[in-house]
Formats: sequence, C-alpha cells, structure tokens
Amino acid sequence: SSWAERAAQASPAMAQWFTLKEQVPDTLLLFRMGDFYELFYEDAHTAATALDIALTARGKHSDSPIPMCGVPFHSVDAYLRRLIQRGFRVALAEQTEKPSKGRKGPLPRSIVRILTPGTLTEDELLESARPNLLMALAPPPAHVQGQGGEWGVAWMDFSTGTVDVQSTTALGLDELLGRLKPAEIIIHDREALPAAWRPYAQAPDGGARGRRSALNAARARTTMAQAWHVHDAASLGAVTDNQAIACAMMLDYARMSQAGTLPRLAPPVVHREGHAMGLDSATRASLDLLEGRDGSTANTLFEALDNTLTAGGGRLLAERIANPLTYLATIQQRQRDWAWLAENDNLAEQVRAHLKGLPDASRALGRIASNRALPRDLAAIRDTLAALMALHVLLGRAPQTPWAAPEPALAARLASLHAMLAQALAEELPARATEDGVIASGFDVELDRLRTLRDDSQQAIMTMQAGLAERYGAPRLRVRHHSQLGHVIEVPAREGERLRAHPELHIRQGTANLARFSNQALDELNSTLAEAAELSTEREQGLVQKLVEAIMALEALPALIQNMAALDVAQSCAALARTGRWCIPELTEDASFDLRQCRHPVVERAMEGQRAKGGGGAPFTPNSCALPPTERVMLLTGPNMAGKSTFLRQNALAIIMAQAGLPVPALSARIGLVDRLFSRVGSADDLARGQSTFMVEMTETAALLNQAGPRSFVIVDELGRGTAPLDGLALARASLEALHDSIRARTIFATHFHALANLTAELPAMRPWAMKVREWEGQLVFQHEVAPGVAGRSWGIHVARLAGVPAPILERAQALLNQMQARRKPARTPHQPEHPPATWQAQGVGASDLFTNQATLSPTAESSRTGRTASGVKEAS
Ligand code: ADP
Repeated sequence: SSWAERAAQASPAMAQWFTLKEQVPDTLLLFRMGDFYELFYEDAHTAATALDIALTARGKHSDSPIPMCGVPFHSVDAYLRRLIQRGFRVALAEQTEKPSKGRKGPLPRSIVRILTPGTLTEDELLESARPNLLMALAPPPAHVQGQGGEWGVAWMDFSTGTVDVQSTTALGLDELLGRLKPAEIIIHDREALPAAWRPYAQAPDGGARGRRSALNAARARTTMAQAWHVHDAASLGAVTDNQAIACAMMLDYARMSQAGTLPRLAPPVVHREGHAMGLDSATRASLDLLEGRDGSTANTLFEALDNTLTAGGGRLLAERIANPLTYLATIQQRQRDWAWLAENDNLAEQVRAHLKGLPDASRALGRIASNRALPRDLAAIRDTLAALMALHVLLGRAPQTPWAAPEPALAARLASLHAMLAQALAEELPARATEDGVIASGFDVELDRLRTLRDDSQQAIMTMQAGLAERYGAPRLRVRHHSQLGHVIEVPAREGERLRAHPELHIRQGTANLARFSNQALDELNSTLAEAAELSTEREQGLVQKLVEAIMALEALPALIQNMAALDVAQSCAALARTGRWCIPELTEDASFDLRQCRHPVVERAMEGQRAKGGGGAPFTPNSCALPPTERVMLLTGPNMAGKSTFLRQNALAIIMAQAGLPVPALSARIGLVDRLFSRVGSADDLARGQSTFMVEMTETAALLNQAGPRSFVIVDELGRGTAPLDGLALARASLEALHDSIRARTIFATHFHALANLTAELPAMRPWAMKVREWEGQLVFQHEVAPGVAGRSWGIHVARLAGVPAPILERAQALLNQMQARRKPARTPHQPEHPPATWQAQGVGASDLFTNQATLSPTAESSRTGRTASGVKEAS
C-alpha cells in the first residue's frame, strides 16, 4: 500500500512519519521524539545493523508490531558519522514547535536537513585535513562519450562555500576524479562513471536536469543566476551548456540537502582546461601523495612537506600537492611567496606566532553561512580577524612583501567587525547557539535588563517567603523552584494538612514527606519570570543573528581567510627551505630535466626517524638525474633492494613538488614543465578488482602509451614482469621503442631485462644506468647510487639470502645457476655489456637469441619498426 494509505491508518505520530518518509524514500529518516531520534520499519533494520544497536518495536500498525530503533539526540553526531561513512543519506526530522499546555496530538515535525556525504558542515563529521567535495557531472551525448565529448563538471566544498566549474573529456574525467576525490557525485546515469566511482553516485534532485538540451541549459543558467543573486548567469563567467547543467544539478541537490535554502557561496571559479598536470589514478596510487594504500597520511608526501599550523593551511597544501600546475606564472608566484619568507626568518617566526592555534575559520564561516553557526564559530571569526589585523600590520611594515595589506577602508571594516564580536561574545561560550549566555553582559542594555528580571527575583522571593511563613504560622515554609511546577510553596507533609484549609492556596503536589502549593502571587511571579526568560532568549537570538549578518556582510572575508591559508603554506615551505636542504626549482618551457643531489623526502624522513630513535643506519644517499633531449631515456638496471623504486619515485615526486609551487629536496632542480606524469611503480596489485595482476599492469601500460607525449614524463618499473620471460621482454622492448621513437617523453625505464641495454645503437637517446652494488666478503652491499652502465648480475640469490631463504636451498640454486651458465655460452655481440645478463642465462634465453637477429624475436615487430622509421617518426641519430 502507498505511504499515504498507510499514513491514514496509523497513529498520529506514525502518520507524520509516513508523510515525511514519503519525501525521502531512499534516505534513512531520523525522527525526533523527545530525547531520541527514532527509526522505523526498513530504516530501523538497516540502522540497527549498521550501528550495531538494538532493534525493538513500537506499538502496532495493521496488527503487526512496528520495528524501531533509536539513538539519543545528545550523541547523535557519532551515529551520523558512522551512517554517512557507510554511504547512507540521513534525513533529520525535528519538532518544529515547542511543547505547550493545551496542545493535543503530536508536535508538528518537518525535515530540517538531509545529511549526505558531500554536504556536511560539522567538524565532527569532517576530516579537517581534506576538502569535502560534492560534484555533479553532465555527460556529453552517449555517442561521443568515449571520444572526446565534453563533460560538464561542477564541484563545491560545502563546508567552505567554494564552487568550481570545468569541462573535461572522458580521459580527463578519470584524472579529475582521482585528483579531487569527491565525497559524492550527482549524475543521472551512474553507469557512465568509471566503475570505481559508482558507489559515490547519487541521482540528481528533481528529474529532467542533467541531460543536455537547450531548455535544460537555459533553466540551469537561471538556477545559477538565482543562487548568486545576479541578473544574468553570464556575469559569473562564460560557462558552457554542460557546465551550467552540472552546476545547476549540484545547486539543486545542495538546496535539497539543506531543506530548501542554499548557503552563501563564493562566485564559481571557471577553470580553463590545461592548467593542471595530468596525473591518472594509477600514478597517484603509486606515489602516496596524500594518503598511503592503507588510507592513512603516514609516510606520504603530504606528511613530509607539512609544516602548516592551521587547518585551512593544511587543506590548501594538500590541494596543491594533489593538483600540480602546468602554468608557469602561477607556479612562480607561489615560489616567490615562500622564497621571500625563507629569507626573512625573523618575520617568518612572527607570522608563525600569529597563525599558531587559530581555529578553522573557513569551516566556521561555512556554518555561519548555512545558518548553522555555533557560538564557537563566532569566536573563531573574532580570533581570525584579530590574527588577520596583526598580520596585516606585520607584513605591511616589511619591504617588498608579496602579501599586500588591504585597502584602508577594508582594514577599518575588519577592525570594527572584530571590535563588535569582541564586545558581544561572552567569555565562556555555551556549546549550542540556542543556549543562553552567548552574548556577554554589558553589550546590550535591553538584554541585561531582561536577564536581571529573569535572574534577580531571589530577593523578591525571600521577602515573599518570609511573609507567607508568618501569615500561615509555618516557620518551615519555603518558596522553592521546581523544574516542572515553577516556584511553589513547600511545607512538610504534616503542615500541608493544615494549609489545605486555606482556599487561596492550591495544592499542586503532595508526597509522604511534603506538600507543594501555589497561590496567585506565585503564579504571577512564575509567568513574569517565564516571560522574562523567553524575552531574554529572544533578544539574545536576535543579537546573535545580527552578529551573523555583520559577518556575512563582510564579503571580502572568505578571500582574506584563504589568503591566510596561503600564507600558512608559504611559511610551511619557508621552514623547509631554511634548512638549506631544499631548493627553489627552476621551471622552464623547454624539455629539460636536471636534478642535482635529489632525495626522496618520505624515505629520507623515515630513515631520519629511525636514526633519531637510535636505530642507527646510514643517511639517505642523494642521486642526480639529468635527461637532456639527447639522453632523454634512462634505462635503469640493478638488483632488488638496491633502491630502484625509491629513485624512480623521487624523480616523480620532485616534478610534483616543483609544479605545485613547493620546494624540492635537492641541491638544484631544473625542470621543463611536464604536462602529464605517468608513474608505474609497484602499484599493480589490484586483485581486489577481480583482474589479474598482469591484466592490470597492461591496462596501465596501455593508458600510458596512448596518452604520453613529448612534454610528458614517464616512470616505469619492471614492465612485462607479469608474464612469461619472452613475452615480457618483447613487450618491454616494444614499449621502450615507442617511448623513445614516437612518444619521445622523458623516461626512466627500470627493468630486469638487462639485455635491453644493448639497444643503444637503435635507440640513440637512451642511456643505460645502474644501481651501484659492491660485493664485500661474499656479501652484497647496496650503495644506493645511480651510475652509468648496466648491472653486472642480478644478485637474485644474494637478495634471497638477505631475505632469509634457508642455506641449503640457496646452495642448490647457486649450483643450478652455475650449471645453466656453463651450458649456454653466449655469443657476444658488439653492444653487449661486459657481464652477460645472468637472469637471461638462468632462464635459458641467451642474449644472442634476442638481439643478434631481431627477426627471431618478432618479425612483425621488426617490420612495423621499419615502417615507422620510413615514415620519418624515428629520430635521426
Ligand atoms: P628496489 O626498488 O631496488 O627493490 P627500494 O627502492 O625499494 O629498492 O629500496 C630498498 C631500500 O633501500 C629502501 O627501503 C631504503 O631503506 C633503502 N634505500 C633506497 N634508496 C636509498 C638511498 N638513496 N639512500 C639510502 N637508502 C636507500
């Protein structure tokens, strides 16, 4: 039966529930009843399981008990957090009127809010280090979806009120999702999303939107104009139809979640494509930028770089790390911001003193803008304004600061808002805005008067008590305040008997020990006091609202707070630069790449941590890496554990740091802007997705080979390891050729196929490099140093010994290896390295098989190669 039919047969409270539930069918409805939020029916089953709380029943409906579970309202945040983390949407239905005498039937209730993962503002529900993004997507028509059709993308951080709009192709979409990690995605057709993102999808609110049509686009522009209170959406910047549709879908959804009202939003930032470095999800996963594979921030690039002091600064740093740029001017501006502070150490210290301990101002402002301000949010703005003013004075005095002080008119408005908040807010603030005591005494004469009326009745009561005691000859008579009855006359039970005889006294309550009465004077007192209390609350709420309005009226505030976050990031970078171990990278428009004495910040930090704990160990060995156009492909060999992946990753990380406008842990760095970075290092273990390791590896390789270009940077580790040695070598070689000949990206190609080093004649821009190792008294010593040449041997058995493989097995392996090497004497070719590649010997494949006669490896590969050479793609050597 329909919700409405069920409602008609239900008890009054349940009838309300049915009516509200009809509005939010696919959302858990938390229904406020006194001190609890209750859930019923399916919702109760779902929540009881998700929260591990008891399922009970309440009354009956059509003769069957109604399943129910509930959570106490004062601890609801913790339960909300768990439900939202599990991907549920939660609607809160509150009582919208206070209980009053005389009322019959249940209190009216309505849905005041729908909590969804992307629309949260509460600190308790958010991670302070991450933006929390709601995204909406308007896809291109289906027939061009996979082929460069334009997706409209809009995203917002509800907790801070920022909105961004962009267009992208399907390829770019995957990248954008990996970069922004939205908490929730509004999209009509969830199947159009890459599989990994489908669990985050939500259908848009209200039907037809989301499909591209002239009508929808026009309506979408109207929605945008309304949201930002402008006459014509055109004044918000040029947005395409699909961008407008995505943006409107997002706004509608946001409004729905706030039960009809939108918070104040910053004007949308319309991104031009092509200012962000391309980083696909496999690359991000391999580099542990913001979180490791376990989801924690331990041992991430963020952690190694983070010296920020405020939550806003931390989020901005994270955002920059996740979004390196390809736009030189912006990168250089960011560099100047911190380089300047690094040279003014004393000033930087003073900046830090002002930033330290500041509250999370943008999120406070976000709550204020969505009418959900807590008293401490107002205090947060007060303290932030004080810090802003002090910083303006401090930086305004410094010569050549990139941090311009605001115009005098704005500075004056900051000062007056601060003064107002400082005077208005009480020293000790209550937790909730609806509680009394937000406004300090002395701020408002009328509020003070009402409070006095409310609180200072004590004297009048004492006088009244004395009069009553005398009149009734009852020395033990007291006038007391009782939580439900208000002020009452209280006497011992024995005297109560006597007092009942007086008609002007009304018995209110009698127990074995005492009796409570009221009289007309007390009734009047009670209502005067109640009225004063109500008036003072009303007055106080009005004043709080005025403060909120004054804060909202200062439109420059969000930008100033964002500026302060940027200053925090700058001081964080300056702190690194000041150690003298981090440099300002030089970025260029050409394809240079030259890192001197570069380090892996995360591995180095971990090693320093070990040593600090007395764990001993050598310091991190820096390595240089130069890939000029004539030597742009580095072929890297070396045994396991020698430091290959550390070296590969450190180069990728240096590019990310440099293009994010951050310092680089090197002596010097010169980097030609990288448009796309591909890192394929040890991330192929994706069996959870039900694909074989090799399939995943090849999928990632395919993406790389399809997308990389001459401005890209490519880092691959052990391509082809997941299949049989011959296949693997063939694939590795063909890929290396493509990277060298046609893609022409700067490339570091780490491999166990030592034989590839023989291709220097065919691949003139390739240079073989190797991780240096020494053998010392039969032990393998890793030097972690990259040097020209090819690894002499594979050292597999040595590494196996280090790993603790039992001695008899190692001896047997060594004997087998010796046998195989003796059996197959390789025919030397001119390019062959001095040491024959032992792995290939061991696997029964001589280098001669592979390289003296290319036709035996793959005739088709050979002919296609010749074809490319003929078409002139191959570089003349
Ligand atoms: P591979 O990829 O060659 O197997 P890794 O890069 O994983 O080797 O490095 C193995 C270990 O060697 C690391 O955990 C680290 O402790 C150490 N290491 C790597 N590079 C260096 C370096 N440049 N200086 C000092 N120690 C290093």
